[in-house]
Order: sequence, then structure tokens, then C-alpha cells
Amino acid sequence: MKIVDLKVHVLKCPLDEPFAFSQGWVRQRSATLVELVVDDGLVGWGEAFAQGLEPPEIAAAVIEHALKPLVIGCDALDIEVLWHRMYHHTRDYGRKGSVVAGISAVDTALWDLAGQFHGLPIYKLLGGAFRERVQPYATGFYRIEGQGEAQRLAEEALRHADAGFALMKVKLGYGVEDDIECMQAIGRALQGKPVRLMVDTNHAYGRAEALRLGRALAEFDLRWYEEPVVPEDLQGYAELRRQLPMPIAGGENEHTLFGFRDFFAAGCVDVVQPDIGSCGGLSAGRHILALAQAHGVMVNPHVWGSAIAQAASLQFIAAVPVAHHSLFATQPVLEYDRSSHPFRQQLVTQPLQMVEGWIEVPSAPGLGVEMNREVLERYRA
Ligand code: CA
Repeated sequence: MKIVDLKVHVLKCPLDEPFAFSQGWVRQRSATLVELVVDDGLVGWGEAFAQGLEPPEIAAAVIEHALKPLVIGCDALDIEVLWHRMYHHTRDYGRKGSVVAGISAVDTALWDLAGQFHGLPIYKLLGGAFRERVQPYATGFYRIEGQGEAQRLAEEALRHADAGFALMKVKLGYGVEDDIECMQAIGRALQGKPVRLMVDTNHAYGRAEALRLGRALAEFDLRWYEEPVVPEDLQGYAELRRQLPMPIAGGENEHTLFGFRDFFAAGCVDVVQPDIGSCGGLSAGRHILALAQAHGVMVNPHVWGSAIAQAASLQFIAAVPVAHHSLFATQPVLEYDRSSHPFRQQLVTQPLQMVEGWIEVPSAPGLGVEMNREVLERYRA
């Protein structure tokens, strides 16, 4: 299992119709993928999270120039050793953001290789599956105009409900009044349907506005209120959590056990959302999970990537224990992005499929994916 090659693939595709989240307009979908090759011929895949406004070349440069020399020639089964090697060697210029996203991609590829080596799905290597199927939630409700789209968003909610989604996450953060108007329209459209909502402002507001929005949304019985303030404002998170009735969620922009240590110590969230493609990979996911358990925080990964990122997230979710055990404990759910993504479904031969509102966790070795090489070439940047 000696690592003999590492290839970085940067994929890009412009969108026919750009869409906005609260931080800007997304005009292309992109992915930074890692392909790790070992001497007996096995190939492992990993993905670095590329946020909608993030050039995928940043993580690609980190992987190519900083991480590749650290892992070539090493035993691919030394996953924890290699994680620390990559983290220590990039500490002085890394610790957060795209550098840790690069580590995440390499780490995920190592877990994919280990699974294939042992002939087991990754969740088995993580300690086993607490669940064999996961309920997905529809992430959508992006904006095409910006403001004043309540009616269109209400129609989108109905489409997700008709497709079988019982959970939906509404993107907010386009102005508190506009947000409230949209939520009221969505609420009216979904009246009588068995749907629970979450909201996500992508840290659009300061504490006062975030609190005003949260109070206005108290009637919706939200499953969670995501990224109410910027990730740096740990005290703001804690204050909102004290003052609002709904669970507070966040963590997609936090990294490694060190970042999450401070997040938990400050009492920021009820639900923590590490992204396996940016928190430091599955190894960091394990570190963060242990910390979260000790703080009584529920772990529910964030994912907004290609089929590789989705597969990694699904394997991890299978192995996440509930935070608060009971007969009918709240289970983690899979973020299932419904926004335009030209190569997400085509990249692997068997893309995720929702059947009657659930997604089965693949039990094939490793990530359980087979790459469609022709699609890789078609979208190569
Ligand atoms: Ca989010």
C-alpha cells in the first residue's frame, strides 16, 4: 500500500443560470479532486470542499505543492500519522480554509484506499453503522433575482415536497424583511404537508439582525437556524443560542479539532456541521465527533460538493452516534443540494438516489464509488 502517485483534478463548469446565496453570485460549479495511487494498483478518491465563491485552484495548489511531497512513498494505511504530518507541516501557513480543505481531500482518499484494502465500507473502519439509511434534506431556495422572490420560492418548496422531501433548508440572508416574507409564503404553501424546515443565512447578519430574524421565525418550529453570524463571532453564536427557541447550527467554516475545541467551549451550537471536505477529512471528522460528544452537541455534517464529497459525508453520517440517546432520538440527516450542478450526478457510475424519502448508505468497499473518467475529462479546467 505504498503511495506511488497523487493526481489533482480541477473541474469547472459555468452555470447557464447563476444563482445567489447571501455572500454572492455563484456563476460556476467546481471541484478539486484527489486521486491517490498505491503500488498494488488501488486508487483512492477524495474531494476538497470548494465553496461557491472559492477558486478550486487554491486547494489544488496546496495539494500539489505542499501535501503531495509529504505522502508520496508513504504507507497509505498510516492514515492518522499522515494527517498529523500534513497538519504539522502546513501549520504556519495553514490551520484553516483551503489548506485544511487540501488535507481533507488527501485524508478522504486514504480512507477510500483503506476501505478497498480491507474490503469494507469506510463506516466499518470508523466503528460500524448506527444506521443503514439516511434521510436527506433538500438544500435549495437560492435566488435568481436577489429579493422579492417569495412566490417562486413557495413553488420550489412544493416541488421538493412532491419529490418526497420531508426536510428542507431555506437559504436566507437577503434582508430580514425579505427573508420573513419568503418564509411566510413557503409556510403557507406547505400548510398541511409533513415537512419540517431549517434556515441558513450563511452568516449574513450581525447579532441584532440575526436575533430579530430568529424571533420572527419562532412560529416555524425550525429544526435548526444555521450560521446566524460570522464564524469568528463565537460569543454572538452563544448569545443567540441563549436567546432563541430553535436549535442553532454551524461549523461548515470551522476546521480541525483545534477550531472546533473553541467552538464547543464557547457553547456556540446545538448542531455542529463539519464538512468532511474542509474540516480535515474523515480523520478530523472523528476528532471533532469525540469533542462534540463530550459537549453534548449533535454532529450533522455539511456537504455541498460533487459525488465524492457526498459519498464521504454519507459514510461518516452512518458512523455518527446520536448526541442524546433515547428511543426516538433525533438522527443526523444528509444535506442534499438541489441547486444546479452539471457534473455532480454524472461523475460516478452510481449517483445517490432517494427512494421514498431515504438514501441507502453504500456498503461497497471504501467510499463505494466508481469514477466516470469520461466526465472527469469533459469538465477538466
Ligand atoms: Ca450552510
